[in-house]
Amino acid sequence: MIEVQSIDKSFAGQRVLRELGFEIPDGRITALLGANGAGKTTCLRIVTGLLRADAGRVLLGGRDVAADPLAARRQLGVVGDREGLYERLTVEEYLTLFARMQGLAGAALRQSLDAVREELELGELWKRRTRGFSQGERMKVSLARALVHRPQHLILDEPTRGLDVLAARLLRRTLLRLRAEGTTILFSSHVMSEVAELSDCVLVMADGRIVGNGSPAELMENTGSDNLEDSFV
Ligand code: ATP
Repeated sequence: MIEVQSIDKSFAGQRVLRELGFEIPDGRITALLGANGAGKTTCLRIVTGLLRADAGRVLLGGRDVAADPLAARRQLGVVGDREGLYERLTVEEYLTLFARMQGLAGAALRQSLDAVREELELGELWKRRTRGFSQGERMKVSLARALVHRPQHLILDEPTRGLDVLAARLLRRTLLRLRAEGTTILFSSHVMSEVAELSDCVLVMADGRIVGNGSPAELMENTGSDNLEDSFV
């Protein structure tokens, strides 16, 4: 379970998160839905230990992320927003580097690389350098990197942004398979239709707070609208 408790965060005096609190249940896919600027990326960066909150705390499996960010990172897979890849490395070299950083070696390292290559259909890209990769190809490599150590929790910031139909389908299949294996998944999006398709629970975020939550069907029923962002903001 991921517990976010009363998080405040400001940048240069501008308050971006306001006593933000929610819980992410285990083995489910939860979406953080909100318009541009609602604070989703800031929230996810705090959850993953990349940013420090001004107040409040995040617990991952009961442990405070800020108190031990390295231990938290071992339980987490993270697919960030617009992240860079190391373009001089091949996909294989890049994923090997990250797997080693997660403490994998020998047969376990080999097995883990074989698994992500197959699951994310990386065969053709495996020996290629990542320079010039399409958005879909980059997403596959980022997701493989996030999964290489089989984390209990997976956090993705706007994972569908810029993806073509095939890449979006592969992402969807991968998330559903991970859920079936018991992985806890939190992703952000500003597109209601993909949130409805992919998630079990939705947290609607506006102006640094949670302003609604429930299953996609419950939220649509309560608001009488299939355009949730507009209903809450
Ligand atoms: P988007 O979908 O556009 O990425 P978001 O919901 O992820 O939006 P954030 O990226 O968290 O929102 O941004 C929330 C607010 O915080 C915005 O007004 C943004 O300009 C501001 N902000 C975020 N990071 C910083 C920073 N490092 N320095 C200053 N302001 C920031």
